[in-house]
Amino acid sequence: MSRFWTDKIASLDPYVPGEQPQDKQYIKLNTNESPYSPSPKALQAMAAEVSESLRLYPDPNAMTLKTALASQYQLNTNQVFVGNGSDEVLALAFMGYFSNGKPLAFADITYSFYKVYAALYGITPELIPLTEEFDIAAEDYQNLDVSGVVVTNPNAPTGKALPLADIEVILQSNPEVVVLVDEAYVDFGAQSAVTLVNQYPNLLVVQTLSKSRALAGIRVGYAFGHPDLIEGLERLKNSFNSYPIDRIALVGATVAVEDAAYLKNICDKTIKTREATVKALTNLGYELLPSATNFVFVTHPEKSAEEVYIRLKEQGILVRYFGNKPRIANYLRITIGTDEEMQALVAVLTAL
Ligand code: PMP
Repeated sequence: MSRFWTDKIASLDPYVPGEQPQDKQYIKLNTNESPYSPSPKALQAMAAEVSESLRLYPDPNAMTLKTALASQYQLNTNQVFVGNGSDEVLALAFMGYFSNGKPLAFADITYSFYKVYAALYGITPELIPLTEEFDIAAEDYQNLDVSGVVVTNPNAPTGKALPLADIEVILQSNPEVVVLVDEAYVDFGAQSAVTLVNQYPNLLVVQTLSKSRALAGIRVGYAFGHPDLIEGLERLKNSFNSYPIDRIALVGATVAVEDAAYLKNICDKTIKTREATVKALTNLGYELLPSATNFVFVTHPEKSAEEVYIRLKEQGILVRYFGNKPRIANYLRITIGTDEEMQALVAVLTAL
């Protein structure tokens, strides 16, 4: 017998996270995690927090982290929201700002979670195709009749970035709706829209500690925006009586955000390894889109992406293959690991 809830649940098409296989040790280049340890100062702070203090609830306002983020990005704490990974921040923003009956605009090839949230909240996606060169074209986002706009900058899985001037065009031509800029990968070479927060009350910038700060394991994401937008997210969060993050994550995240030198160190190393990887793969005949992230998006004119993916996996190297998704079926997304990991990748690809 079909009941409304079984139909509702059957209609959900949940996100399938990247493989985290347990059968053996892989070189994991499939989920854009950092190959480097988090800030040693953050690790120390978290270890110290594992103490009797854990009998106490965490600060429901995550104020130490908001203060660290506000000071790092020259904003006030009422312009900062904190959540359990940027995925939670995105979920709250979709629920609060985009479920108003009109469609939500985002790119046809982008982070696949947006479609999942849209389905969950009954939002119709208005998919805007990337250009021939896999770019988000600002002129395709002007004066839209939508509930909101999501721009992923740099985009995933393509890795390409938009200049800030293009983000401004989108903000200016859609002043009545929230424009959410998902900057999960921004530290690896794109310009952040954080600097525009004081100018555009409809801008919400979402970032994460999962990539450039090597802290995917503690699930911390955050948003910057006008105090009214941030207040809206706080109200939603408090309606679930949910804490933004736990005590261990709070101290670790705060110290990691303060450790700007370590962030720079990780980003510099990743960018250097990315450049070497681009050279090596180009020499092997692969075609790569210019990347402003900690991954590269590659195809080969003569080789099947599926076969390369399978052969790499057999050799203990995991990369992301997109199955039969239109336009990107013959592409692979490869996370930038350490120099040694990328040399192992290149050795296997050379032998294919
Ligand atoms: N946005 C984009 C574009 C991503 O690729 C990811 C990570 N897969 C996220 C957001 C979510 O990251 P997290 O929840 O770990 O902060």
